[in-house]
Amino acid sequence: MSKKVVVFSQIDQDVLARLKAQYQVVELNPKNGDINEQIRIEVANADAMIGAGRLLNESNLSTAKQLKIISTVSVGYDNYDLDYLNQQKIWLSNTPHVLTETTADLAFTLLVSAARKVPSLDLWTKQGNWKRTAGIEQFGQDIFGKTLGIIGLGNIGAAVARRGFYGFNMNVLYHNRREKLEMAQPLSAQYRSLEDLLGQSDFVVVAVDLNAESKSLIGADELNLMQPHAVLVNIARGSVVDEQALIEALKSRKIFAAGLDVYQQEPLSESELFKLDNVVTMPHVGSGTVATRKKMAELAYKNLVTALNDQIPQYLVNPDFV
Ligand code: NAP
Repeated sequence: MSKKVVVFSQIDQDVLARLKAQYQVVELNPKNGDINEQIRIEVANADAMIGAGRLLNESNLSTAKQLKIISTVSVGYDNYDLDYLNQQKIWLSNTPHVLTETTADLAFTLLVSAARKVPSLDLWTKQGNWKRTAGIEQFGQDIFGKTLGIIGLGNIGAAVARRGFYGFNMNVLYHNRREKLEMAQPLSAQYRSLEDLLGQSDFVVVAVDLNAESKSLIGADELNLMQPHAVLVNIARGSVVDEQALIEALKSRKIFAAGLDVYQQEPLSESELFKLDNVVTMPHVGSGTVATRKKMAELAYKNLVTALNDQIPQYLVNPDFV
């Protein structure tokens, strides 16, 4: 009897075909009813799960009897209850590195778009508003040579910083829970407290993983420290920024603009953000290019197969109990 794999979100078709050739595969689909109920039923005799973007915890995994691995097609794993997985000795693997540059590209796209009002001016132009030379209302902020503050100088944060440093001659500041000299030195990046970084940066990019300490890291007090011409970019997780406080800061022009790829509630189909002309919104597509999503799926597949062959996957998030 071949091992059972539960696919809990849409995944790459080639990877799906390969999984089907090797294992008994069950694909879950929200169109077939309550997804958590589907998980509870199918996970009972499953050996592995693969997918992204679902909350997996005791409430939907408690029926699992032989689940060895959850292979997430993402680098972030805040939607999995790690304590529960550790307690149940269920491995969790992720897909770091292969998405770093693509996600940094999107972060920089948001930075430039927000600073130069690209989406709103695109609309303005296409709506026939360009009747005389563009003026102050249409003007944005300089980027070249300005100060870029990175909150979370990890893989993606450093890749964003490289774009700023090499491409735009930016002065790079960063804040982490600890100094990251090996990441910082090649970019001449200087460590700052969160407060100093917010006060001194023209552009602030949030690139932390979501954890107990980074949740609501940026609230009204922090936004108040930013300069009125500053731009905030969040490609990390929505819950790192207090969204309502950000909306207020954008409305009252406490900051110039924001570029967002992530939100407190996703998907986001209705929001006050949509009424603001100084925010650029993207639908959580930081890693969303055809090639990168394929690389992520391949890596998640490799992690899963390795675990089902009783080997330790390359990117195991919770190796402590192995
Ligand atoms: P990473 O290499 O682990 O970097 C995360 C960095 O955040 C680490 O350097 C960590 O350093 C720092 N950090 C964590 N908590 C912090 C806090 N409270 N204050 C300051 N710094 C903190 O991860 P990555 O590959 O760069 O990915 C980062 C995150 O981006 C992922 O976890 C994911 O949530 C998000 N992401 C989003 C997309 C998208 O589509 N928008 C795509 C990929 C990733 P210390 O622990 O030393 O503080």
